[in-house]
Amino acid sequence: MAIRIGIFGYGNLGKGIECAIKHNPDLELKAVFTRRNPDSVKILTEDVKVCSAEDASKWKDEIDVMILCGGSATDLPVQTPKLAEYFNVVDSFDTHARIPEHFEAVDEAAKKSGHVGMISVGWDPGMFSLNRLYANCILPGGHDYTFWGKGVSQGHSDAIRRIAGVKDARQYTIPVESALEAVRSGKNPELTTREKHTRECFVVAEEGADLKKIEEEIVTMPNYFADYDTTVHFISEEELQRDHAGIPHGGFVIRTGSTGWNDENKHVIEYSLKLDSNPEFTSSVLVAYARAAYRMNKEGQTGCKTVFDVAPAYLSAQDGAELRKHML
Ligand code: NDP
Repeated sequence: MAIRIGIFGYGNLGKGIECAIKHNPDLELKAVFTRRNPDSVKILTEDVKVCSAEDASKWKDEIDVMILCGGSATDLPVQTPKLAEYFNVVDSFDTHARIPEHFEAVDEAAKKSGHVGMISVGWDPGMFSLNRLYANCILPGGHDYTFWGKGVSQGHSDAIRRIAGVKDARQYTIPVESALEAVRSGKNPELTTREKHTRECFVVAEEGADLKKIEEEIVTMPNYFADYDTTVHFISEEELQRDHAGIPHGGFVIRTGSTGWNDENKHVIEYSLKLDSNPEFTSSVLVAYARAAYRMNKEGQTGCKTVFDVAPAYLSAQDGAELRKHML
């Protein structure tokens, strides 16, 4: 029998989960839940109901894993512990500094109800975290580097949109190629924020707006742009729609280190992602971890888990014998 999945919250990630389920025949979409009027939310799958978020608990015997697709800032800290009372849950909580407290809240709820609550799944946190951990275990005396991009940063795009005279904006974070090369060469460079990434902004201004003033406000904005070399391009609304509608992202996790009695041999471990669609890729990771959450719970495990707690074989639709034959 297929693993029955629910989607809680239907934004970019919600839609991405729907697409990912289509690519995983051992999973079945049971229902989509939204806080908005369910009739106003149109989904891709035929014959699957969109239901009110308030009715989710009524589905506790119909859904094996609920995948939470709300935002990290205010939705998930409330939704994940709440829904762990009724379901195995998976979320993509990405406020790194607050992961310990989120873990505690989900752990308490999931242990009490006998479910697995898998948090902070995606690419960062998620696949990047796993690769940082593997590389640290293998090269304990080395150096870690994470570069992000080229990709759209939603937070930085929003910050530009809040400036007076700005109609719309898209911001790309771009790794500095020379910094990447210095890291890959094994030189272990000490890199400042400015040396690692640049920021490129595409801005649609209101008619008659003072462009010089907008640009100045962007490049000097503390926390967001002041510490970076930032380029601002003013473009038309049509150009923004035509050339910047996607949500690409990606990045690099690199660890350099040495082995041998006198550290005579150098090693570089690199994991990189180049994603056309950040939410669709994140969703593909989430469904693999939903499979793991279901299996781990079936084996009697409960409480909060992160990607560090999941053995790789739990993620695969193939069984152990197939994996040993084809992947080892
Ligand atoms: P969205 O803003 O698209 O969706 C978030 C929620 O907003 C939805 O669940 C939905 O809830 C509501 N919503 C969506 N569209 C509308 C609309 N038109 N009107 C009103 N409400 C709407 O966020 P994303 O799906 O892009 O991302 C969700 C979170 O995923 C991010 O906050 C981020 O923290 C995390 N993330 C994590 C990654 C990782 O690597 N770990 C990578 C990428 C993202 P409802 O249906 O209930 O209204």
